[in-house]
Amino acid sequence: MCGIFAVINDKSNNAGQTIRQGLKRLEYRGYDSWGIAVQSDNKIDLIKYVGEVDKTADNIKKLPKSIVGIGHTRWATTGAVTKINAHPHYSTDRSFVLAQNGIVENYEELKKDLTQKKYRFVTQTDTEVITRLIEEELTKNNDLFSAVRQAFLQLKGRNTIIILTKTGQVIAARNGSPLVIGLNPESNEIFISSDVLSFAPFADKMIIIDNNQLVNCINGKIKIFDIRSGQENKYGIENIDIKNDRVDKQGYAHFMLKEINEAPYVINQLLKQDIGAYNELAAAIKKARSVYTIGSGTAGVAAAQTAFYLREYAGINAIYLVGADAREYYELIDKDDLFLAPSQSGETADVLEVLEVVKKKGAKIASFVNMSGSMMTRLSDYKFMAQSGPEICVLSTKVFDAQIAWGYLVAKITAGKTREAKENLRNLSVQIGNYLGNNKTKIQELAKYLLNAHDIFLLGKYQNFQIVREGMIKLVEATYKHAHAIPAGDLKHYAITLMEPGVPVIVVSSNDKVKSDILNTVYEVKARGARVIGISPEFDESFDFHLEVPDSGETSAILNIIPLQLLAYYIALMLGNNIDKPRNIAKSVTVK
Ligand code: GLU
Repeated sequence: MCGIFAVINDKSNNAGQTIRQGLKRLEYRGYDSWGIAVQSDNKIDLIKYVGEVDKTADNIKKLPKSIVGIGHTRWATTGAVTKINAHPHYSTDRSFVLAQNGIVENYEELKKDLTQKKYRFVTQTDTEVITRLIEEELTKNNDLFSAVRQAFLQLKGRNTIIILTKTGQVIAARNGSPLVIGLNPESNEIFISSDVLSFAPFADKMIIIDNNQLVNCINGKIKIFDIRSGQENKYGIENIDIKNDRVDKQGYAHFMLKEINEAPYVINQLLKQDIGAYNELAAAIKKARSVYTIGSGTAGVAAAQTAFYLREYAGINAIYLVGADAREYYELIDKDDLFLAPSQSGETADVLEVLEVVKKKGAKIASFVNMSGSMMTRLSDYKFMAQSGPEICVLSTKVFDAQIAWGYLVAKITAGKTREAKENLRNLSVQIGNYLGNNKTKIQELAKYLLNAHDIFLLGKYQNFQIVREGMIKLVEATYKHAHAIPAGDLKHYAITLMEPGVPVIVVSSNDKVKSDILNTVYEVKARGARVIGISPEFDESFDFHLEVPDSGETSAILNIIPLQLLAYYIALMLGNNIDKPRNIAKSVTVK
């Protein structure tokens, strides 16, 4: 899930510094290592480091003045996290450098073949195989652009690459992982990156690169080609609509805390949207043969909650699919089916892979995405933008809130209850706002209470089952503690064996039709000595700790995720974890 960033015609003549800033904004995609290469005087200078992109420009000073360069921030898939494996990678004669986002699935086979041809490898990455493969192609035809094209065609898997030559030419190719071009018509600067956000402060316009396209940039002139045919493609230039989005912490200690506090804002953003588009989607839902929802990780939980809302409030038999595990459905998908896909980035490889199959079968796709210019939006027949503002913390919080609020809204509109849904969401945003303002101390107290716990169990049912799953994800991601979400009623079938004195069990319940069922489970765990933490509007004697939440009726599941997000935040804070960038994960998972 690496991030790629390039600048061409850098107006400050300090390409290294511009790229460093771009990489900093792409760091959510990976922070194992980073590297920057710039071109000047018919040579390429390169720096590489393990760890997060420098906050200061100190290391950049080692690079010469330059107007063109490429950079990379890595989330290692192949080869350890070491300086030598950091991108970009030099060609053997140092005439070009290359950086990659993706996984070359046939890299072992290619490497074996190239090794037999006497190519030497200095890294353990799959990336270096692409570099050597281009060198090999160059021996057949001494034109770099065709060599890149020929090499790229031999790669299996979802890959995007970028190349800088010692003459200042930049070539990029996309198949799967994201790639966008930013333009600043005033300064003539060109940016090539994995997302729009990274160059939004510097550019006004963008060109979205499609899969199987190749970009060639010589002397500041861009040309786009189809990789397979080699034919030049026309391209459209679009305005960048996120220009004024702020990406600072606005006084909060961490982006995670800032973004949790933006829940009321993201719900209100939803309420401002054009209802006509929702009506069209509602009609498609009613007409569809089968309705599926799909997502990965937190967005997968949002997809599951959306399916719940469609079943519960619209009487639609919606089926939830896990992005990475939907293969057995391929044969069952039909042109009359409809897929709903909530996604933060719109670039999640596991989901895109399924949606590409779905599209080929002629089924329709509706997506709800937070990032502009994504492949998922481009694939969709019904395009919804979350407009939640940039979510910088690697852990998704506010976008999850927006996604499940969207699922609720879509379900209610499908049921013909638009006014009621909007009213409920408007009230919910006020209730969340009040809750956020008044409950910090109590949640910090609970965080302290759970600080030494080794395992944390979460129980939920009905509208709160997916909420405890998402609470589990937040706890695991932020605190590195073992958390385990269980459908409350299922506990007695297996996990009850784990209920011993002192085990913390968080129970999330609402004033709904399953409230008494949940309490029965609570009594069962209580009888075995568990410490029960209730997150609910009403107190129960079985609770050892009670986090009171307002009762927002039908939307109460959406409210209930807020204390769980805050809890994960405060435990992580007390443990001294790197909250905005937890170990090993990246935000936008663009590899399979
Ligand atoms: N496969 C490359 C590496 O491990 C790129 C990884 C990625 O894009 O996440 O360095």
